[in-house]
Amino acid sequence: MRVYVYPGSFDPVTNGHVDIIKRAASLCDKLIVAVLVNSSKNPSFTLDERVNLLKCAISDVPNVQIESFSGLLIDFMTKKKAAVIIKGLRAVSDFEYELQMALLNKNLNPDIETLFMMTNINYSFLSSSSVKELARNKGNIDGLVPDCIKDEVIKKFSI
Ligand code: ADP
Repeated sequence: MRVYVYPGSFDPVTNGHVDIIKRAASLCDKLIVAVLVNSSKNPSFTLDERVNLLKCAISDVPNVQIESFSGLLIDFMTKKKAAVIIKGLRAVSDFEYELQMALLNKNLNPDIETLFMMTNINYSFLSSSSVKELARNKGNIDGLVPDCIKDEVIKKFSI
């Protein structure tokens, strides 16, 4: 069984993430979306909130599972018998960091491959932090996040 893992903070999930999830899920038998517990990014949403928002966003994709992980991604991969890490690439600015991570992981376990998927052109400008910045300033986030999570994102920043 081909198990792939798509890791990230998903703080919150955006339509850019959902696009990668759907495309990656079509390439494997099971895609595990792995939500990082100890994000250095100091998340705005709790782990439970990030997991629940993802669950709502991908409820129509059958072979996707949402899980959380802490520690090394490579150890999580081994535990889940997963051989491929999925990463999305937006701009050249993503490349340097992702190259370093991919090589570091390759060095830790040569059997694990990192597979990069190019962003959908419609979402190339989209990040969780830009969604949060818009929500904080009462900007319109229609079409940037899944409809079922929109109200929760707006509520989070209206306090
Ligand atoms: P962000 O970079 O938005 O804060 P994450 O840390 O949750 O998000 O990112 C998880 C993964 O999703 C990374 O591989 C990142 O490159 C990818 N990703 C994020 N936004 C997009 C997008 N709009 N298009 C393609 N990939 C994306």
